[in-house]
Amino acid sequence: MNKFWHDIKIIVTVFFLMVSSVAVTLWIVREVNVFSPPELGPAGSQSVGPAQLMRVSAYCPCKKCCGKWADGITASGKPAVGLIVAAPPNIPFGTILDVPGYGICAVWDRGGAITGNRLDVLFPTHEQAKQWGVQYLMVKVVK
Ligand SMILES: [Zn+2]
Repeated sequence: MNKFWHDIKIIVTVFFLMVSSVAVTLWIVREVNVFSPPELGPAGSQSVGPAQLMRVSAYCPCKKCCGKWADGITASGKPAVGLIVAAPPNIPFGTILDVPGYGICAVWDRGGAITGNRLDVLFPTHEQAKQWGVQYLMVKVVK
């Protein structure tokens, strides 16, 4: 009987050695994977191109802001929800911008007054759009 328990002990020991060596190997693989590729910067620092000073006004999907276009649909056909920005026609739809204080947003809209160095950021309510007012900000093109 003593020999039986002795064998069990050896089997258990070998089993634990195997499990721990697998764990160590996985840990090493993970560490190597984490450190070998070039580190990407934190979100928000991946902007390409220089930041540009722009006049950033705000709007909401209401009649006061959009007049006859107050149907909740942007000029691109996408619904006017989320972080959406109206940009001049030289900035294509789908361009991702980093607007300080607003966030990483996508160009999905146009506006009659939105030309040159102007942007219009979308808010869900008129009150929030009014609170934003007009700000002059360094805007970056993320992609
Ligand atoms: Zn409004």
